[in-house]
Amino acid sequence: MSTAKEVIAARYQEQERLVLALYKQDKRGDEMRAALGVSRGTLSNITKRLGIRLRTTWVSTDQIRCRTCFEAKHRDEFYKTTSGHEYSRCKRCCGKRFTTGLNTAPERFFKYKISEIKAAAKRKSVPFTITHLDLAERYAAQRGLCFYTDDTLELRQHTKGGDNFRSVLSVDKVVPSGGYVPGNVVLCTHLANTVKNDLTLAQIAAWLPGWYERIQKFELEDFVDATAKLAG
Ligand SMILES: [Zn+2]
Repeated sequence: MSTAKEVIAARYQEQERLVLALYKQDKRGDEMRAALGVSRGTLSNITKRLGIRLRTTWVSTDQIRCRTCFEAKHRDEFYKTTSGHEYSRCKRCCGKRFTTGLNTAPERFFKYKISEIKAAAKRKSVPFTITHLDLAERYAAQRGLCFYTDDTLELRQHTKGGDNFRSVLSVDKVVPSGGYVPGNVVLCTHLANTVKNDLTLAQIAAWLPGWYERIQKFELEDFVDATAKLAG
């Protein structure tokens, strides 16, 4: 008598043996799924266990069928791996997947944002102690609106060129030299951050009095809070 665990292990082994044999025959993913009678997810688990990457579906010598949108596109429409092979999902679908994920999962977006800021802080040698939770907290406190303009913040990747990213969320250091530390960070639109640039508080007070008023209010409410937290 074999236990349930042994039965599953045997089934796994059998599936892996079949997939490996088909892989060596240059079979595509859809052909493997038909042969094994398994779902896309199951096949993906098997290939992961085996450490193999399924071949991209070539329609002709320079046309690939994207595994997500199923459109046949020129090979230039696909990103390449470091070893020079085209991905099985087209550029458009890769991009969509990334941005959709960020929009529907703020936590993922804030983690991504933190990784971006961390690199910038290192480059500019400014203090950096905030976490994605600080960003999430700020976002909630600002009710998803720009700190300076009250415009709705868009949670998406800020890509260069073409795209309009003026209302995309940007992390602003209230006092630029103060760095990315809790109490010195607010969220604003990319446009507002571009306008503010690296202005000192004195310059903001003189040129953007409305924004200065908001900063003063923020410092009273939050900065005191943060310093109290640091002190004890
Ligand atoms: Zn596609």
